[in-house]
Amino acid sequence: MQRLFDCHMHTTHSCDATATFDELCESALKYGLQGICVTEHVDFDEADAGYGYYNYDAYMADVKRCRKKYGSRLTIRTGVEVTYQTEFIDDIKRFLGTYELDYVLGSVHSIDHVLVLDPEYPEGRTKNEAYEPYWQETLAMVESGLFKHIGHLDYIKSIRSQEYGEFEVRQWLPWITKILERVVESGAILEVNTSALRKGHTEPYPGWDILKLYKDLGGTHVVMGSDSHSPSHVGLGFRETAAQLKKMGLALCHA
Ligand SMILES: [Zn+2]
Ligand SMILES: [Zn+2]
Repeated sequence: MQRLFDCHMHTTHSCDATATFDELCESALKYGLQGICVTEHVDFDEADAGYGYYNYDAYMADVKRCRKKYGSRLTIRTGVEVTYQTEFIDDIKRFLGTYELDYVLGSVHSIDHVLVLDPEYPEGRTKNEAYEPYWQETLAMVESGLFKHIGHLDYIKSIRSQEYGEFEVRQWLPWITKILERVVESGAILEVNTSALRKGHTEPYPGWDILKLYKDLGGTHVVMGSDSHSPSHVGLGFRETAAQLKKMGLALCHA
């Protein structure tokens, strides 16, 4: 059986997670993973609950301790999930220039200082006003060239608005195509994030249509992450998702 890596996880070093480092490691072993990469949040917006929370030294102390504890049974890579906001690009560059990490994942979570999955976000916004700034910011993130790995590309499909109806890829195809073209041109790699499966979706972030388009545009590799915030999320849906990716001809790589 293919040995899998979970490349997107959070521990109590992230402001919104409940899992300890050891608990994630134990879950990973139980699930039969080859390795993990714990990607704590780094946020530069004072409006974000995670602002000022990141502590590289405390994180690295846990990495070193768990590497010793689990030895060859589990590979542990270092990583981070940076919330991309164009207005904080200088802070992001400074951060990336300061810390040494194996894996850097770029994700868009907020627009105008509001989390896009916050119930408040759709208030007073038409569907276009809600979605377009997200695609614009995602494009800017890819074009910044700062990230080798692009997190949960269609995360906004979980937007909490009854009025907008179901997410339809074809409605946003010009944006998505442009973003994917830039991803492929720049040699970046899409993340396939299975947390969508625990948020009521039947497909990961991004969904299969987007992954197929990525492949058609020349994309060859993806990384898989569960975006675990608790031990029970580790490796969620990995076997099925990995099998589907294989069928599509997208190769799995890891941090
Ligand atoms: Zn994220
Ligand atoms: Zn995350």
